Parts: sequence; C-alpha cells; structure tokens
Amino acid sequence: MTDHLTFLAVHAHPDDEASSTGGLYRRLANQGVRTVLVTCTNGEFGDAPGGVKPDADHHDGDEVAAIRKVELDAAVEALGITRLVRLGYRDSGMMGWPQNDDPDCFWSTPVDVAAARLADVLAEERPQVIVTYNEHGFYGHPDHIQANRITLAAIKLLDYEPTLYFNAIPDSVMVVWRERWAAEEREKIEEDAKRGIVHEEVESGPPDEAEFEMGTPDDKIDAAIDIADVTDAKFDALAAHHSQVADSFWMKMGREQFNQVMRTEWFVRATNPLALDGCSDDIFVGYR
Ligand SMILES: [Zn+2]
Repeated sequence: MTDHLTFLAVHAHPDDEASSTGGLYRRLANQGVRTVLVTCTNGEFGDAPGGVKPDADHHDGDEVAAIRKVELDAAVEALGITRLVRLGYRDSGMMGWPQNDDPDCFWSTPVDVAAARLADVLAEERPQVIVTYNEHGFYGHPDHIQANRITLAAIKLLDYEPTLYFNAIPDSVMVVWRERWAAEEREKIEEDAKRGIVHEEVESGPPDEAEFEMGTPDDKIDAAIDIADVTDAKFDALAAHHSQVADSFWMKMGREQFNQVMRTEWFVRATNPLALDGCSDDIFVGYR
C-alpha cells in the first residue's frame, strides 16, 4: 500500500531536486507515492546563456530565472513529481556575495515568514517523510542553509511529527569524488596551459576550505536508497537543467558512466518520531 504515502523535499534552487533527490523521486513515483517538491528560489544567480557567470556585468538574473523555470518543469516531468510548489524567493548568491543583502532574497527573508508559507504546504500535504539539507546547507550556500532553517521551523508549526532526513554523502564516497574533482582540475589546468591560459585560482567542485565536513561517516547513514533502476531518469532530470549543468562533471561523464556510478542516494535522519534504528533502503521505512 502506497496510496497513503506522501513525500516532500524542500530544495533551494532549480536543479537541486535532481542532483540530491532525483533517483529517490523517480523511485517513489514508480511506486505510486505522492511526491511534492518545494523549490525556494528562482535561481537568478546561476549561469546565464553562454556560461556567463553571475558576477559578469551583462548577467541578467531575471532572464536566468525565466530559463530555469522552464528547465525545472522539464525535470519535474522526468522525475514524475506530483506537485511542484515554487516559493519564488530571489536567489541569494554564494556566501559573501553582495546579493546576500538584497531584501528580496531568500537569505534576507525572516525564517518565520518563509516557514509559515512552507508550513501551509506541509499542513495541506501532510507528508510522512521530508527531505532537505543539514544546517550547513550541505556545502555552505546561504539558500541551502535557509532551506534547512525554514524546514525545521515549519515542522514545529505542524500538529504531527514527520520524519525529516537530510541528504548526505558517505565519507567513503566523498573521498572518491574529491579525487575525481582534483583530477579534472589538473586536466583543465594542463589543457588551458597548452592554450596559453594561466590560472591564478582554479574553481573546483564544492569549496574544500569550508570549515565543516561535507561527508558523513559511513556508519551514520540512515537511508541508502538504491536508484540503479532509475539512473536514466535522474540523468534526464539533470540534463533538463541544461543552462546550469552542460559543463558539469555529470554531463561530462555521459549517460553510460553516470548509470554505472550514480547508483545510490544517501540520507541521515534529523527527526525520528518512529524511533527507527539502523540503515534502511526505504525512506518510508516504518510507514508502509
Ligand atoms: Zn542549490
């Protein structure tokens, strides 16, 4: 019986639903579970067409948001998501950017204001299971941190206690990714050097100067979801966010390798009303 089950994830930007929960969404949709996505921002400070970075003078945030709106619709379709709710906040940019101070951005919005809006959706949908990011927003992006804060605050407004999970990457997997990113970085430096481009500072994957660990000890993982059957849908959903991911390591590895490598999504429990114990392959463990 799955027709009483509802899953809801709170994500910061268009594309986060695909990268951290794409397999889970598709798997649950295939099981007949009702799936809801709350996307907090419009993603104004992603790349503009032609790979134009957000700090470029001619970067037009509204244009980027319009493109990403269409891309998100396509990803939602690929993942079989039942309902998409856009909170419509303005992207806050990366930590320390001047955009953080925009009064309309998500980061500047008081937590209780955004949480009240999210709580309305939660009260309507009554998801048993909710997913968002940990208090570091997984990698330190203000909009991801804010997604964590409003989700925790919204849950407190409910008349029931859902099981909340944070997305996670086990340390053992993080080590492999870091090696991969480092190798890609070296390749890029070498290629650019051949073309006469010298890098003062090289962009890598997530910032490794962050003062918190992005990885989670393997024995602290509470849900390891096997998504091997649905990696195609996850790849399609990521590819739908073409304006942001065309140059990403996912697209560079291509569908075939992606399907070989991206076979699991991991989560840790942040609330545990059912007193669950141990690691499960089912995010609805205890509810079925
Ligand atoms: Zn994001």
